[in-house]
Amino acid sequence: MRVLLLGGTAEARALAVLLVDAGIEVLSSLAGRVADPRLPVGPVRIGGFGGVPGLAAALADHDVVVDATHPFARGMSANAVAACARTGTPLLRLERPGWTPDPSWTYVDSHDQAAEAAAELGERPLITVGRQELARFVPALGHLPAVARVVDRPDIELPQPWTLLTSRGPYPIESELALMREHRIDVLITKDSGGTYTWGKMQAAAELGLPAVVVRRPLDANAPETVDDVDAAYAWVRERR
Ligand code: NAP
Repeated sequence: MRVLLLGGTAEARALAVLLVDAGIEVLSSLAGRVADPRLPVGPVRIGGFGGVPGLAAALADHDVVVDATHPFARGMSANAVAACARTGTPLLRLERPGWTPDPSWTYVDSHDQAAEAAAELGERPLITVGRQELARFVPALGHLPAVARVVDRPDIELPQPWTLLTSRGPYPIESELALMREHRIDVLITKDSGGTYTWGKMQAAAELGLPAVVVRRPLDANAPETVDDVDAAYAWVRERR
């Protein structure tokens, strides 16, 4: 049993621990987006496969695939569906549930809509959607004293009024409260990442009475069999041994 584990999430790292401990051969795959990634236990490969053809070719060395990429990494998930269908490789998606909606949150379908909604709601936004999406916020929020928090510096030049913070979670509520107070944040922008890793900002916004703009997860009409916790993914792999 050789497992290809598409990762880049805390859940993927947790599953790698279970598989390695059970003596199951697993290769974790990371995109290579982050300069200094948190590495899972066990063997790791880093970098894209070269689209569906590249992934399909790589599957010759694997018996099953677990796609535990981030809920917003839909390109990789779509490639996994296509490559596994092409090669007849069993595929499971491990996707953490989204957050339970709060009536005070404004849900939107895209990052562009998030920027426009935030411009209506406040003047000092905290943007926490990741480096790759920042450019989408410049047209609507470029003139405001926004704070953009990312893991690695973005490639684009940021608007002069913005403050860039580089750091990596998990972020407990105490430090999120301190950050929001220090920068006098009045609206929070986030993806519906789910999980506990970044939940502190939602708690801090609630405690300070700040509005939050939440980007919905993209719909996926071709989603494969999906579980939402690590133990269920581990059980799925074991059933296929
Ligand atoms: P994406 O847009 O869905 O993927 C774009 C391309 O990056 C894929 O086609 C693939 O290239 C490569 N890729 C993505 N994940 C990969 C993986 N685990 N192993 C090997 N190649 C991978 O992905 P993304 O949104 O940029 O996310 C990149 C990685 O960061 C993912 O692994 C994800 O779990 C993690 N992450 C993403 C977010 C987010 O908000 N999007 C947040 C936290 C962590 P090829 O076509 O060449 O194979």
